[in-house]
Amino acid sequence: MPEWQRTGLACMLAGLLHASAAAGPPAPMIDAHAHYTYADSLAFGPAAILATLDAAGVQRMVVTGTPPELAQTLYRHAPDRILPVLGAYAEGTHKGNWVHDATLPARIAAMLENGRWAALGELHLFAADARAPVFEALVRLADAHRLVLLLHGDAAVVTRAFEIAPKLRVLWAHLGTDPRPGALEPMLARYANLWIDTSVRDERIAPDGHLRPEWHALFKRHPDRFLVAVDSFSTHRWRHYGEVVDVIRAWTATLPSDLRDRLLHGNAAHLFEAFSGPAAHP
Ligand SMILES: [Zn+2]
Repeated sequence: MPEWQRTGLACMLAGLLHASAAAGPPAPMIDAHAHYTYADSLAFGPAAILATLDAAGVQRMVVTGTPPELAQTLYRHAPDRILPVLGAYAEGTHKGNWVHDATLPARIAAMLENGRWAALGELHLFAADARAPVFEALVRLADAHRLVLLLHGDAAVVTRAFEIAPKLRVLWAHLGTDPRPGALEPMLARYANLWIDTSVRDERIAPDGHLRPEWHALFKRHPDRFLVAVDSFSTHRWRHYGEVVDVIRAWTATLPSDLRDRLLHGNAAHLFEAFSGPAAHP
């Protein structure tokens, strides 16, 4: 059997063993960083996506669409479980060129009027373009609409976002581009409104499921600032969604239960409280 299947099976068994050891349903989880593209939608309609979340024990998902409307399609299907993120990429605009598209801010502003949104992003940006006017315009829009900004970039970009809008809430993807505790710690100390997702870094922070002590210590020092996520960046990854969740559950299970629950669920629930309050508690 191929390596990924063996790994998947091992993870599944580990997950089952863990679940039986804990003698109960798995701890609640919110997936704080997901993508849903047109290609994904051909393979998985909204009901299939929700069934995928159910099978993995994931209650809610923070998801951006490409094209952006796809996040609203999921949200309309399950408003109490989907936190829709307004994506900036569609029709020739992508992560490599959006920052040079002067028409983008007006299009985003128009889309903000069509539908409820929890966040804006994911925006890919790096230091060289941190001062681009299109980025500044989108940061101001996120700030004015009280949206969380989902950023994939280096520390200079996060710094620039807070320079433009000090009260903005930023969710920094993938432990940033320099995923070391020593690089993240000063940013967390400087910016109280900075949250960080651990997506696609599971193997790095917990090789073979064993959480490295320096990451355990960082999570302990900043218990309210980290969120777990799958980052379903491809249809292939959607097909293996449950295996990624098992990996996340395996390393978070080594944390004290209170800290584990914050990373799996509580921190995301808090960050998106303003959006999901009425829908989650009708
Ligand atoms: Zn992403």
